[in-house]
Amino acid sequence: MIYRNTKCPYCRYSFTSGYAALGPGLSNLGVPHLKCPQCGGVCKTGLKPWSLMSPSEKTVYFILRFIQSIPNAIFLGALMMMGIEMGLKIEMSLTAGFALGWSVSIILIILHGRNSIKDIEEAYSKGENIIVD
Ligand SMILES: [Zn+2]
Repeated sequence: MIYRNTKCPYCRYSFTSGYAALGPGLSNLGVPHLKCPQCGGVCKTGLKPWSLMSPSEKTVYFILRFIQSIPNAIFLGALMMMGIEMGLKIEMSLTAGFALGWSVSIILIILHGRNSIKDIEEAYSKGENIIVD
């Protein structure tokens, strides 16, 4: 979890109303511009909606998401290993537990990503501000 305060560079208006928690935190996905409701200034975010991304930018998106899934994979893997070992009385190897945790966290990333891509695409087509991960 990363806390970020996204501010207008002209008048310091906070698009996130102060520091807001963003999911995995690091991404190249988003609307390219935010329009400040206070001063009307338009600021570049350096982000792109999915439909404007080149294949290599889409690859970067997946790599960033993959890197971010590592802590989750370890946490979920450990949790699931404990559950399986206690519940089913089966010894699991660390590798198997990690692989299991990683599979689940990748499914979660895909589900979360699909929502973000859709929300950002919608906001982009309407010219609305949106800050999501
Ligand atoms: Zn402003």
